[in-house]
Formats: sequence, structure tokens, C-alpha cells
Amino acid sequence: MKLTIIGAGLAGSEAALQAANAGIEVNLYEMRPDYTTGAHKTSKPAELVCSNSLGAFDETIASGLLKAELKILNSQLIKTAFEYKVPAGAALAVDREGFSQKIQDLLLSNPKINFIREKITEIPKNDVVIVASGPLTAKELTDDILKLTGENQLKFFDAIAPIVEKSSINFDIAFFQNRYGKGTDDYINCPMNSNQYEKFYNILVNAPKIELKDFEKKFFESCLPIEVLASRGKDTLRFGPMKPVGLIDCRTNEENYAVVQLRQDDKAGDLYNLVGFQTNLKWGAQKELIRSIPGLENANIVRYGVMHANKFINSPKILHSTLNMKKSPNIFFAGQITGTEGYTEAIATGLLAGINAVKFIKNEPLLELPETTMLGALTHYISFEGQEHFQPVNSNWGIIDKNGIDRKILKNKKLKTEFMSKRAIENISKLFSD
Ligand SMILES: Cc1cc2nc3c(=O)[nH]c(=O)nc-3n(C[C@H](O)[C@H](O)[C@H](O)COP(=O)(O)OP(=O)(O)OC[C@H]3O[C@@H](n4cnc5c(N)ncnc54)[C@H](O)[C@@H]3O)c2cc1C
Repeated sequence: MKLTIIGAGLAGSEAALQAANAGIEVNLYEMRPDYTTGAHKTSKPAELVCSNSLGAFDETIASGLLKAELKILNSQLIKTAFEYKVPAGAALAVDREGFSQKIQDLLLSNPKINFIREKITEIPKNDVVIVASGPLTAKELTDDILKLTGENQLKFFDAIAPIVEKSSINFDIAFFQNRYGKGTDDYINCPMNSNQYEKFYNILVNAPKIELKDFEKKFFESCLPIEVLASRGKDTLRFGPMKPVGLIDCRTNEENYAVVQLRQDDKAGDLYNLVGFQTNLKWGAQKELIRSIPGLENANIVRYGVMHANKFINSPKILHSTLNMKKSPNIFFAGQITGTEGYTEAIATGLLAGINAVKFIKNEPLLELPETTMLGALTHYISFEGQEHFQPVNSNWGIIDKNGIDRKILKNKKLKTEFMSKRAIENISKLFSD
């Protein structure tokens, strides 16, 4: 039996490679380039729509642990991400073009995968299917999903950060450095004194935004638009994306009042994105704001920030932790549409859906990961029926099972994360050595 996968994004591409490598034939459908999502810019699979960072790779950081688990589970996209890594301190940032091109090569060269450029409007209900059509799922398919799940549409809003050309940055002001001097100096830092911050802040809070309707003003807390953060108080940004701590300006030997950080966006190092500057400001206002940042006064902006709705299903009612539907166990969901948030999380649920769709086809028991692992905790969280107002979640220590951990360890944050990380890696490794 063939597996049908809808969407060749991060989740769909990982699922396709997992299933094909396990010997199952896959029909992988992707609607781009004939139809667009509004956020994707290329026709390539596994396109990173905003930041080029997949987050931390330190195993004692929640998203780093998820990557470590994915490496053990032989994730093809995480492996490729490490191959296309660009310098970004403790973060796994990639050359987005090279990364997507490599995934396309892997998909096209795999004899078990038929990569079909077609928009799916209806889920083939009798096939084994993985719906991995992402937060920007096309309208007709969204309607079909709503019919299938019997739910009203759920969505929240998210924004993209702008990108500038490195050659337009003024290095008489901006300087390369990593926070606390860790690793190589990968980030470009634009320093501000209190007067410059005041001016920047006033431009930001008075800047015209693309207005959202009231019901649309639902954001994901860990990826808030910069103007929303600014509206929470004058210093919120200085304790958030513009925090100056650990960055010593080499000209003064002191920390600045605030700092804007830029992260390399392409392998060549020609493009840099503004870290934490996801925004819904009108483009003219973005230009004025960015050019008010010392060092960026002549910045050439190659991509502006934009805002998008993120669709997701009510997974607690709809899915098992094995990622297939309670009502129709032959239909799996993967990626952001399940209510997991983030690139690595999309890859992770794609991997598990791929593994489990294969098991379903082979009539084998599905893989249910323990809640002591980050991927297990995520899939149990999104499928836990006891939640009234389900909202998307990304990897975090709060969702991991703490049962059986010594109270002394639980009281010490460092010891606790080290313990949970080690235990998760042991548990995942054990599953695959049995
Ligand atoms: C604007 C925006 C910015 C984001 N920024 C970040 C970020 O900076 N960092 C981060 O970690 N996460 C970010 N996310 C969240 C999330 O990690 C990404 O959306 C991620 O790409 C989700 O992976 P996915 O595989 O679920 O969906 P996608 O990667 O979006 O893949 C879905 C694919 O399905 C295709 N498709 C849709 N409908 C159909 C159809 N009917 N038929 C065939 N194909 C179809 C689409 O064209 C797309 O290629 C962002 C999300 C959005 C919307």
C-alpha cells in the first residue's frame, strides 16, 4: 500500500524520507509553485519561511534536546541542517537555499518517492494519509479538514522578521560578537545609548500597523511581534530581543543601553536577519524603524516582516499521541497544523508520523514515545484531552514527565534539566537498541 502525504514542507518532507527509507512507496503532494501560501518564496520543499534558525543545539536546552532525539531517530532534515549550518553561536542556523535544495535532491532521487506538484482539495479518506499542509494550508483543504474533524477553525497570528544586506551595514558602529563571548563572534550587534533607544522606541510605538480584527489578535507568546512587546512597556524590549547584557562594546569596553542583534541568513554571509524583529508594521514604517537603528542607517532591506494566520486543529479532541486520528486511524497529521510550534517541532512530528504511517501500513503496533522524552512530551501534550482552550506549544521543560525525579534534583534548575536531558536521550536510545 502507498502512503499519501499532503505538503512537502518540513514535516511532509521528513515523513516522506522516513517512510521511503523504510521501503514504503510515497506520493508526496506539494501545491507550490502553482499556488502560493503567501509566506513561502520558492518552489522548494522544506522552505524555512522566516528565521533561518532551528534554535539551540545544546542538549540541556529544550529545543536542543529535541534535536538530539531527532538525531538518534535518524531525522534526515536535522542531518541536512547540520550539513548546511552557518555560524550562529549556540543556535543551529542554516543556509536556507542550500538546505531546501538538498532536501529536494533527496526527495527526487529516492526511487520510492513520487514528488507530485498538485494542490490537494480533499483528503483521500480511504488511503493511509499524512496531512502535513502546514499553518498556511490552502482554503479548500482547510474546509475538508474542518468537515473531517467536525471542528471550527483554530488559528493564531505570527510574524516574520526583516532581512538586510550585510554590505549596507555601517561597521564603524556595528560590531561582531556573541553574548558572553561564547564561541566565535557570529552575531552583528547594533548598539544604542539611552537617547537612541528613546528615539527608536517612539518611532516603534507610533508606527502604523496593518490592522487586525479583534478576533485575529491572538499571538503565540514566545514569538510576539516587536510592536506588541513594545506596547507592554518601555523596557520590555531591553529585557527581551534588545537585551544588552553580555555584549561588551569594544570601543567603550562597556555594555550598551540596548542592542539589536543580526544573525547570518545565507551561507555566503551576504544577508542578515534582525533577531526578534518579527513585525506587522507597514513597510514604510519598518524602513523608518530599521534605519533609526545605529549601524543600519543605510540598511538595504531585502525582505520586510509580514504577519500570517497559523491554522491548527484541535488535536486534543482529534489525535492520538501516535499522531493519527481517533476517528479515522488511517489519517495522520504532522507539523504545525497539529498545534506544535516551530521548525524543529514540525520536523519532529513529521518524523513520528512517517514512522507510524509505515507501521500502520505494515499492521504493526504504532510507536508511542514516553513523556520523559521531548518528542513524547510534545505529542502527549497536544493529544491530552483534558485541555479546554488548546493553544500551540513548542519544546519546553514544563511538559516533560517529572515523576520519579529526586526532590533535591527538582529544586535545582541546572541539575533538573541535565537529569531530564540525559534520561530522555537514554530512553530514546533504548527504544532503538531493543
Ligand atoms: C509566517 C510564518 C513564520 C514562521 N516563522 C518561524 C520561525 O522563524 N521559526 C520557527 O521555528 N517557526 C516558524 N514558523 C512556524 C513553523 O515552524 C513553520 O510554519 C514550519 O514551516 C511548519 O512546518 P510544516 O511542515 O508544518 O508546514 P510548511 O513548512 O508550511 O509546509 C506545508 C506545505 O504544504 C503545502 N500545502 C499547503 N496546502 C496544500 C494543499 N492543499 N495541497 C498540497 N500542498 C499544500 C505548502 O505549500 C507547504 O509547502 C512560522 C510560521 C509562519 C506561518
